[in-house]
Amino acid sequence: MLTIDGSRGEGGGQVLRTSLALSVATRTPIVIENIRAGRKKPGLLRQHLTAVEAARVISGARVEGASLGSRRVTFAPGDVRPGTYEFAIGSGGSALLVAQTVLPPLLTASAPSTITVVGGTHNPMAPPFEFFERAFLGCVNRQGPEVHAVLERPGFMVAGGGRVQVHVKPAASLDGFELLDAGARVRREARVLIAGLPPSVGSRELRALVDGLDLRADEGRVDEVNAVGIGNAIVCTLEHEHVTEVFSAFGERGVRAEAVAGRLVRDVRSYLAAGAPVGRRLADQLLIPLALAGGGAFRTGPLSKHTKTNMTVIRDFLPVDFDVEDDDGATRITVKAASPGKE
Ligand code: ATP
Repeated sequence: MLTIDGSRGEGGGQVLRTSLALSVATRTPIVIENIRAGRKKPGLLRQHLTAVEAARVISGARVEGASLGSRRVTFAPGDVRPGTYEFAIGSGGSALLVAQTVLPPLLTASAPSTITVVGGTHNPMAPPFEFFERAFLGCVNRQGPEVHAVLERPGFMVAGGGRVQVHVKPAASLDGFELLDAGARVRREARVLIAGLPPSVGSRELRALVDGLDLRADEGRVDEVNAVGIGNAIVCTLEHEHVTEVFSAFGERGVRAEAVAGRLVRDVRSYLAAGAPVGRRLADQLLIPLALAGGGAFRTGPLSKHTKTNMTVIRDFLPVDFDVEDDDGATRITVKAASPGKE
């Protein structure tokens, strides 16, 4: 049984999710301790508990300690069981983070799967639907499997109630890929999603985005969406020849619309200034599918704590190594087979 210390690095939920995904993918029994020890409310929240439950169901795992607030879970998976599943988080917790937990083992399963997750689809500190669909799946779909995501209904913090469906047509194995340059710009789009709030919030955000990113009028729009409760997200999609990156910011009570848009503008500008195709968030998330492929490389900006932590968790499960080098002002991460005899 492999012991994973959940307090390593930033000590957040990602250590748990990566461990679950790779435990199922490699059929490695684990005990994970000190879950989310680095967070204000440590232990399993609903989103994390649903991720454990989803991983259990798709692998027939034996599980102990899976309850709200728990800081220690043992998880012994069986064979991967592709199929049609629905998981409800029961709060506004991120549906995409739950989907990302079960996706890696399903990418090379023996049959297709359809996963529906009910929860939040546009949450701060998590991939919004558009990022999952365009940025993350855009890369995964270069690896052999065909994965297609549908936003059936948006859901925001705190009410949730959003629905995402993920259809997975697996491949026999995963290919690696190289993503070293974004290539020429194809399209830009800024979209403001707004539910149950005055339309002026959306139009002010849009105006600030158009000004801050120098967008043409036809590159931005406000969409009033139906959701349980109120919500506001802004999503900017930058499509280049070799990669699509998606940036987001979320409205908060007490924060001016212009300030929310300003956060997104800063994020987009710093991505463009870094001159690397993979943004900070996509970098930590691409490590898992590339490590499962056993090889590949991408260029990104300075490494986040999440990226560094994810590398250590992945190395606990898979015989891979990560070379990190400076590359023309950016960082190149190369995923390669671990040298023989290396612990
Ligand atoms: P906690 O640490 O409180 O448990 P958590 O479960 O949400 O929170 P984290 O460990 O913080 O987990 O991981 C969040 C994941 O969401 C990371 O993979 C990160 O890259 C991703 N993420 C966060 N914000 C965005 C964003 N705006 N766009 C895309 N991905 C994001």
